[in-house]
Amino acid sequence: MSRRVIVAGNWKMNQDLMGAFRLASEVITDSSVLEGNISVVLAPPYLYLHAINGMRKDCPQCKIAAQNCHYADSGAYTGEISPKMLKDLGVDCVILGHSERRKYFGETHELLAKKVDAVLSHDMEVIFCCGEPLEVREAATHEQHVKEQLEQGLFHLSANQFKKVVVAYEPVWAIGTGKTASPEQAQSMHKFIRTLIEEKYSAEIAQECTILYGGSCKPSNAKELFSQPDVDGGLVGGAALKKEDFMNIVRAGLSTQ
Ligand code: PEP
Repeated sequence: MSRRVIVAGNWKMNQDLMGAFRLASEVITDSSVLEGNISVVLAPPYLYLHAINGMRKDCPQCKIAAQNCHYADSGAYTGEISPKMLKDLGVDCVILGHSERRKYFGETHELLAKKVDAVLSHDMEVIFCCGEPLEVREAATHEQHVKEQLEQGLFHLSANQFKKVVVAYEPVWAIGTGKTASPEQAQSMHKFIRTLIEEKYSAEIAQECTILYGGSCKPSNAKELFSQPDVDGGLVGGAALKKEDFMNIVRAGLSTQ
């Protein structure tokens, strides 16, 4: 079977209004002529989601994602955005568990599990990030680290709920550093993750689950990374801010189907 390939661009806290519209419009225009089993996900800052949602209507393979959300539908949570609001806006999925949220905003396993439940309850997909920091990789406990993130953040879900989850393996030492995991390191961890999903759910669910690689993905390394049997595309940070680079990474995803 062929799994759904996804290339997602996480813009983080970048772009101004004009830059966001220009980049989104160029990516959507180029993506609309792509043929094949690929989803191109744009994850701009919250402020630009509404306008970009309006721009992608003629591009069925283009999806929009939020980079975070609260777990409650509404309430006295100053400065927060709820999954209900995102759904209302037309958002398709939410990135949860990014290492920057875990590190700078203290997001715990328990909090992430609540956010995962909230996003799924509004019928959006979750892109759930996991991955080890450098010291964990050096201590060779990276598999244990990722296993715990999945067990605590995701594995309370039912099999049906889990079908709406995309996993993104993002070794923290590779994010924004220019240092990419080797194709062998990525494949080994992706296979490990797929095996955990199989043990928890079923072989069928594990085979269907899209597992993305993230961490200094570039046009020069994307094809080799995405060609690994258990790597189904990428979550892209820095290179998603440059249209040509991002589209070359998207094309790399398409070529490995
Ligand atoms: C990310 O933050 O999800 C990411 C993969 O960033 P970069 O591509 O810049 O390493």
